[in-house]
Amino acid sequence: MKKIQMVDLQGQYAKIQAQVDSRISEVLKSAAYINGPEVHEFQKNLEEYLNVKHVIPCANGTDALQIAMMGLGLQPGDEVITADFTFAATVEVIALLHLTPVLVDVEKDSFNMSIAALKKAITPKTKAIVPVHLFGQCANMEAVLEVAKEYNLFVIEDTAQAIGANYTFKNGTKKKAGTIGNIGTTSFFPSKNLGCYGDGGAIFTDDDALAHTLRGMVNHGMYKRYYHDVVGVNSRLDSIQAAVLNVKLPLLDTYCDARRAAARYYNNGFKNNPNITTPKMGNGCEFICENCDCHVFHQYTLQITNGKRNELHQHLLDNGIPNAIYYPVPLHSQKAYTDPRYKEAHFKVTNELIDTVISLPMHTELDNEQQDFIISTILNFINK
Ligand SMILES: *Cc1c(COP(=O)(O)O)cnc(C)c1O
Repeated sequence: MKKIQMVDLQGQYAKIQAQVDSRISEVLKSAAYINGPEVHEFQKNLEEYLNVKHVIPCANGTDALQIAMMGLGLQPGDEVITADFTFAATVEVIALLHLTPVLVDVEKDSFNMSIAALKKAITPKTKAIVPVHLFGQCANMEAVLEVAKEYNLFVIEDTAQAIGANYTFKNGTKKKAGTIGNIGTTSFFPSKNLGCYGDGGAIFTDDDALAHTLRGMVNHGMYKRYYHDVVGVNSRLDSIQAAVLNVKLPLLDTYCDARRAAARYYNNGFKNNPNITTPKMGNGCEFICENCDCHVFHQYTLQITNGKRNELHQHLLDNGIPNAIYYPVPLHSQKAYTDPRYKEAHFKVTNELIDTVISLPMHTELDNEQQDFIISTILNFINK
């Protein structure tokens, strides 16, 4: 059996090495290292793939979120609602811009923002909602959009973990995650579903005026060289990373399929176990989820409900099976983001999830032999 990895970037690279190496080498020879043709080509390719009018490449997924909030003109004191159970980048940029983060609880089965909690958190100061498509599963966007419309709020989708996912509305319309709200953001961090070989990110929107604003903002607020109309930042995707992404983007759907196939294999292995909850597929669009493509399994995350999660974590490590606890501490309990307004009772689900979740190896190169070993090791431990 091949050594099991949490994410197998070497195995994936080995299959595309010839194309990647030659494209990188072309960039090196061209010396067009910043804003070169590869970056423009990637922008066009991604616009086409996502079926969105504008892609604005930038330096990473955290910048993408920050620039999105700057582009929408959010002002200090405006309240921005996001999920308590996620990576810190989302709440970090809200705080950096002196906006007021408002964390809300999540749904136990999908790990995504609770719509009931979202509605309760709205005040006259609320300006935007940031649903995070956590672990690759689309948030309940139909419900988020209804709330946003009722209260006239912006929707920024954090798509760092879900690029390639398709959300299906009740009327049958499909849209790519990240193209449903006013703005979508993503990350090309190497371990993300569409990863480059360094840092990278992008912002998506169908709004022409907003796209224009954002393009200046990523480039020092310049719309004409050396004329600075707004306060911007320096946030660029470099040409070498764009070259890697131009090789990998045409493979993204195949990569998503490989992840979904691995997830189904795990689901089957763990089915009907009273101590293990497998991840739900479908979130507001379950009606179509026979062959669901609204989940791209950035992570495959189980809930271990018999109180043995920590022991299982160690047992797997002892058996050479990498695994991770995403996330061990909810954002509302992080030192940087505590707030006297938060009550523990508001975060019942997150507080439970941090003690039950465990993410298993998930990537495009997993094979059945490896998965069989992971599944039997877990079942032997849980059932004993
Ligand atoms: C990875 C990630 C980010 C940040 O992306 P970087 O490119 O690392 O800055 C933001 N949000 C979520 C949910 C992420 O998983």
